[in-house]
Amino acid sequence: MSETGSTTSETTDATDTTTRPGRRRGRDDGKFGRYGGQYVPEALMPAIEELTDAYERYVLNNEDGFMDEFRERLADFGGRPTPLQRADRLSERYGRDIYLKREDLLHGGAHKLNNALGQVLLAKYMGKERIVAETGAGQHGTATAMAAAHLDMPCEIYMGERDINRQRPNVFRMKLNGSEVTPVTAGRGTLKEAISETMRDWATTVENTHYVIGSIVGPHPFPVMVRDFHAVISEETRRQIREQTGGLPTDVVACAGGGSNTMGAFTAFVDDESVALHAIEAGGSTLEVDEEAGVAPNSASLFTGDEGVLHGARTKLLQDSDGQIMESHSVSSGLDYAGVGPELAYLVDEGRVTPVAVDDDAALEGFHRLSNTEGIIPALETAHAFGYLEDHTESLGDRVVVNVSGRGDKDLDAAIEETDKRDLDNAPDMSMFTEGI
Ligand SMILES: *Cc1c(COP(=O)(O)O)cnc(C)c1O
Repeated sequence: MSETGSTTSETTDATDTTTRPGRRRGRDDGKFGRYGGQYVPEALMPAIEELTDAYERYVLNNEDGFMDEFRERLADFGGRPTPLQRADRLSERYGRDIYLKREDLLHGGAHKLNNALGQVLLAKYMGKERIVAETGAGQHGTATAMAAAHLDMPCEIYMGERDINRQRPNVFRMKLNGSEVTPVTAGRGTLKEAISETMRDWATTVENTHYVIGSIVGPHPFPVMVRDFHAVISEETRRQIREQTGGLPTDVVACAGGGSNTMGAFTAFVDDESVALHAIEAGGSTLEVDEEAGVAPNSASLFTGDEGVLHGARTKLLQDSDGQIMESHSVSSGLDYAGVGPELAYLVDEGRVTPVAVDDDAALEGFHRLSNTEGIIPALETAHAFGYLEDHTESLGDRVVVNVSGRGDKDLDAAIEETDKRDLDNAPDMSMFTEGI
């Protein structure tokens, strides 16, 4: 891939994003310090330029009332606003106020609908007639399929062969909603290859097709556009916590894969220097990498990654010393990605966001703790944030918001398997599941 187009440049503009109000970061040129940009093949530039124009008109300037319709549909179809709930038992356990932003209660059971609905609606306003998307674990695919059915748009979803076999219920959900699911056999047959395949489709069908990317990754304008669609999470949180407590939180905690629920939960607080922002990554089984095998048994690209280019943007990546992308791993498939959004990489370098890696064991304990203390079964991705809460309590202030990015129904099979492998203090007795009655 080569870098093309007028808005791209290898050089760093030092005056760049730091002086602008937070909400506008990256909106003009897609650069976050030296991260971001548009590293795409020539064939994709027309699509990227058309999308940038549409983003500016409809999302930033509310042309034709686009943002009004988006907010209305988020409310009626999506169920927004989601509650901000004080977690009484966790608050008692940690000796500070713990609040939960309940994105698990958004339609579909995760934050992902905010972005999928925004982009499918944008495609309609652009006069597109077809949606393509990629999915790894299937969560973004199901959100896109729901939005496409809701807005009457034909939809094709690329998914790695291996992921299709691992995520059958999600594949069925997409098909129930009328989407086509196309297997990708290249490489390992997972998310990275599915993204590349979707970009190839888009390059040849751009006239009538929009590509709904699933996180704050990819070439400009995707990272800012996806962030803006998810910003509703922190906008609501800011209003809700002030109504409930009269002030701002001391800390906001969110898990980070690509980082879309993360930036959604952070954005309205970035300019509030008193609010500490914690991005919790998948530490997997260990932070040590096996260069020879090309494997990083984690997904901690913010914490351990090096600068490079993947899927159209410069960011922090899991790569070996030759710049080859490494295979990542996490107990939660939704965090299992070798890159991270360029804006998060930038905010980490600036010292505004603190990245922390939480390993599989601690995440699984967090999964059980939230389930048995608060009656909320979280997604395994989300569970990493609760692993952090337990192990880093002393680094948090007295009013903490945790973004509950999704619910755990999709993960029950994985949770049975992973719990059975471990000797966890806070898990139920597993013999009924593993040995039969
Ligand atoms: C997809 C997913 C994530 C990870 O994606 P981000 O872009 O990092 O937010 C986290 N939590 C849940 C529930 C997800 O479905």
